[in-house]
Amino acid sequence: MARDDIPAERIHDVHGGESSAGRYVLYWMQQAQRADFNHALELAVRRANERRLPVVVGFALDAGFPEANLRHFTFMTEGLRGTAQTLERRGIHFVLRAGVPEAVIPELAREAALLVMDRGYLRLQRQWRQAVADAVACPVVEVESDVVVPVEVASEREELAARTLRPKIRRNLERFLRPVATPPVAESAKSGAPAGLDPAAPKALLRGLRINRSVGPAPGWEGGAAAARQRLRAFVRHGLDRYAEGRNEPADNIASGLSPYLHFGQISPVEVALAVRERRSEAPDAVQAFLDELVVRRELSMNFVWHNPRYDQYEGVPAWARETLERHRGDPREATYTEEELAQGRTADPYWNAAQRQMVAGGKMHGYMRMYWGKRLIEWHRHPADAFRIALRLNNMYELDGRDANAFAGVAWCFGKHDQPWPEHPVFGKVRCMKPSGLERKFDMPRYLAANP
Ligand SMILES: Cc1cc2nc3c(=O)[nH]c(=O)nc-3n(C[C@H](O)[C@H](O)[C@H](O)COP(=O)(O)OP(=O)(O)OC[C@H]3O[C@@H](n4cnc5c(N)ncnc54)[C@H](O)[C@@H]3O)c2cc1C
Repeated sequence: MARDDIPAERIHDVHGGESSAGRYVLYWMQQAQRADFNHALELAVRRANERRLPVVVGFALDAGFPEANLRHFTFMTEGLRGTAQTLERRGIHFVLRAGVPEAVIPELAREAALLVMDRGYLRLQRQWRQAVADAVACPVVEVESDVVVPVEVASEREELAARTLRPKIRRNLERFLRPVATPPVAESAKSGAPAGLDPAAPKALLRGLRINRSVGPAPGWEGGAAAARQRLRAFVRHGLDRYAEGRNEPADNIASGLSPYLHFGQISPVEVALAVRERRSEAPDAVQAFLDELVVRRELSMNFVWHNPRYDQYEGVPAWARETLERHRGDPREATYTEEELAQGRTADPYWNAAQRQMVAGGKMHGYMRMYWGKRLIEWHRHPADAFRIALRLNNMYELDGRDANAFAGVAWCFGKHDQPWPEHPVFGKVRCMKPSGLERKFDMPRYLAANP
């Protein structure tokens, strides 16, 4: 069996099922919404070739996906359009159907000899996979493709911080940071393959679905693997050299801008890491700094949501942090705001308002400002649990990359997760605090304000 370039640790046999005849091997695409560097797709191709069967890729578009709106659906369906084209060129049929995966995928799997699914780390993604696996008769395999180091290989427990995960990731990096081969498809999809919606016109497709339209598409962003690669190339050429020292400057956009593409699985972290690593002899510090974010920090978030069932609740924050925050609940607050005032960026803090506007209008807040933005919300709420809830809600509503494992870990970080106790401050207690004066001292804030009017 050709498993050579797909390490066995990426492959999880979910159930053997009945060894059914089947007309095709079905890959249920969900997390890894791409045709390249996709270990789940490539395993489906190998298994189909062994059986002389075609591969069918099925995608269930759940119009009611929690917290998703037109902004997210637009970006996602732009990506699916390109993915469908690339797959069809390779002789792989792409079927897009509206509905929840528990309904769409078992229906498609009725004629499948094997179901391959990619792995997702969040609660709903795990519930979906369980429900789909329980509902199908054929064998089911899950393949992990959206992390460099598979989450359970990296660590079997919830890690305390980046410093405790880092050595475990480094130990395994070389084994997993490899391209995956794309063998030719032995049997192309034939006529009679299952029918679905047309992915070629995302706008028309979305017009026909009952989705939340409260937030419009993000200007200047186009979803899809081609746009992701363009961004990656531009970053490697023009941003990487300055990444180590310049990425925190809010007025500049030195960072890669790849998080929305990574969130929707439109580009693989393995592809990104390999492309950046090619420059390691010319820019070793920058490459190391970037890989630390892309692999260690990002996969610390996967570790968090995988091992901590309360990743989306204030209760998921460490006990020391909750205790200290709650001991300071009676401290005077400089102000409190309604959720509406916050959503509209109408606070007395011009930097916070600019960050909020950057997210609402542009779909992506600068990385450093996200930390400041979350910290300030703690100061403006009597109970940290309220601040936590509102931070997640605003983040997930407006950020193109929202609802990601990084969203939950990022918000929780503001409340002490993956951090350590600091000297005591009003309101924050021993949780690290961030002040406007810190921004003014370190950065060109007038320029940031001018860029986000
Ligand atoms: C309050 C708060 C909310 C956040 N919400 C999200 C979110 O909804 N979605 C999201 O993807 N990230 C989130 N982050 C993490 C981080 O800010 C973004 O991943 C980063 O700014 C994305 O921009 P980029 O792709 O240009 O990053 P780059 O600096 O180019 O980094 C490359 C990749 O590394 C990863 N990365 C970078 N910084 C971090 C980090 N601090 N933690 C984990 N991974 C990181 C991301 O996958 C990113 O795309 C949040 C952080 C905080 C503090």
